[in-house]
Amino acid sequence: MNRILFVVLGGGVVAYSVANSENYDNVGNQKKKVVVLGTGWAGTSFLRNLKNPSYDVQVISPRNYFAFTPLLPSVTVGTVEARSVVEPIRNIVKKKKVDVDFCEAECYKIDAKKKKVYCRSTKNDKEEFVVDYDYLVVAMGARVNTFNTPGVEENCLYLKEVEDAQKIRRKVIDCFEKASLPNVSDDERKRMLQFVVVGGGPTGVEFAAELHDFVSEDLVKLYPTVKDFVKISLLEATNHILNMFDKRITVFAEEKFHRDGIDLKTGSMVVNVSDKEISTKEIKTGKISTIPYGMAVWSTGIATRPVVLDFMKEIGQANRRVLATDEWLRVEGTNDIYALGDCATINQRKVMEDISAIFEKADKDQSGTLTVKEFQDAVNDICDRYPQVQLYLKNKNMSSIVDLLKETKGDVVKEISVDEFKSALSQVDSQVKNFPATAQVAAQQGTYLADCFNRMDKCEKHPEGPIRFRESGRHRFRPFRYKHLGQFAPLGGEQTAAQLPGDWVSIGHSSQWLWYSVYASKQVSWRTRSLVVSDWMRRFIFGRDSSQI
Ligand code: FAD
Repeated sequence: MNRILFVVLGGGVVAYSVANSENYDNVGNQKKKVVVLGTGWAGTSFLRNLKNPSYDVQVISPRNYFAFTPLLPSVTVGTVEARSVVEPIRNIVKKKKVDVDFCEAECYKIDAKKKKVYCRSTKNDKEEFVVDYDYLVVAMGARVNTFNTPGVEENCLYLKEVEDAQKIRRKVIDCFEKASLPNVSDDERKRMLQFVVVGGGPTGVEFAAELHDFVSEDLVKLYPTVKDFVKISLLEATNHILNMFDKRITVFAEEKFHRDGIDLKTGSMVVNVSDKEISTKEIKTGKISTIPYGMAVWSTGIATRPVVLDFMKEIGQANRRVLATDEWLRVEGTNDIYALGDCATINQRKVMEDISAIFEKADKDQSGTLTVKEFQDAVNDICDRYPQVQLYLKNKNMSSIVDLLKETKGDVVKEISVDEFKSALSQVDSQVKNFPATAQVAAQQGTYLADCFNRMDKCEKHPEGPIRFRESGRHRFRPFRYKHLGQFAPLGGEQTAAQLPGDWVSIGHSSQWLWYSVYASKQVSWRTRSLVVSDWMRRFIFGRDSSQI
């Protein structure tokens, strides 16, 4: 059968039928059509690892490149150039044995019943077309979450895409140039050079640190007359920044920002943003204050894209905030649709039920109590399977959940009842739901799913599945397991905080070198790797470029 492409013109749907001998594999079977939505961490990792030539892959994404997001804060101040952190998706897939086509367009509707996705070109003509699929991989990422705060969309800049980083770079220089004009009053200068970062997560903190370095290392020399008016403020609604990191890192970062003169306002929530002022409400007292600003960057987390919300309604997930999948990354309520990365989450209710089931199973003699050994084996099994629990335990700096029970019981635990565990688990529950959306998770999910697709036909011929899961007979593949490799928080001044597996925390210049090596090695191509490394060297030798182009 030929590939069918429907194009919607003036309200009517036109179907294109494209004769294509490549739609058959080398033994004459028709290739399964896989449609991938998105070319971010999840989609690209899936494409890079897909090796089975029995698929005909159609990639649809509004951007024709992959962006290395962890370096976007560096792009905002020119530590690295925008083109150094992106790789054209066509470059990434061109040497593959698998047939991969790319369309620069956005998907605006997924019809799970008819197995079609409706797309719209991002070019001026906004031409619409429909693509059918056998398997759909949804890897559309997420959008910025403004929490419906009035004025944010109109007045704040975001730091999500490469274009956002470029806008910030231009805006910073614009503020300095405007503040340097002769007729500007001192009050106005002060306002123009007040930079506000909203959100004390890793992105907000890293951006504030990069901006501080740019100002103190480069701009003060170039704009000596206005340097004393510069102020960087970081607003965070909770009591501390970098909440998801070890407490030692949070404390170090807060103290460093204090020494650097970055004004840290914790416990303060933004309630309104006008074109020149940000209004904040102190959480404890309810006191409202205003901060005049020259540039405000909003970085408070992510929310589900409208197209995904519509899709969730269609498949009976309207009551959820994020698209839910099972542990095999298959969207709940569908058969052939998979979702990975920031746009989806593994259904936590099921995870909790599953965790309880693991404990009940570990109680081999059905006595209602577990020995410490049985308990720890079960905990290890859970940590292995559920990174959320593992991360929560690491963040609490605990070696095992036994400590959590000790905390709740206040003594040394010898035997643990399943009920006791369940009550301790309810404490973990709220934390477990806040599993961070990171590139690491997205990339590992992409690799995992590609691996499943690579073995799909083999598994169809042998449906009994791997020995481990033969018992239940439910699935052909082992479930997705996340391996946490650690996380970094660059803090400026050539210092980085690193939290690595095994509760290993390192802060300072040595971690900065580790950061350089990890991020150089993680680049998707030798081209971007050499560009990024040469940008770092250029910055060491010549400083950052402050031209407003
Ligand atoms: P994305 O990478 O956002 O990709 C989504 C893709 O979907 C894009 O190609 C997009 O164009 C496409 N798309 C959007 N809408 C549509 C549509 N309608 N139809 C089709 N395609 C669509 N994580 C870490 O682990 N470490 C870090 O240091 C780190 N630093 C970060 C720094 C910044 C500034 C940012 C913004 C994020 C950072 N992250 C980091 C988080 C990480 O980038 C995300 O978790 C990751 O990008 C998620 O991957 P994804 O593939 O789900 O989404």
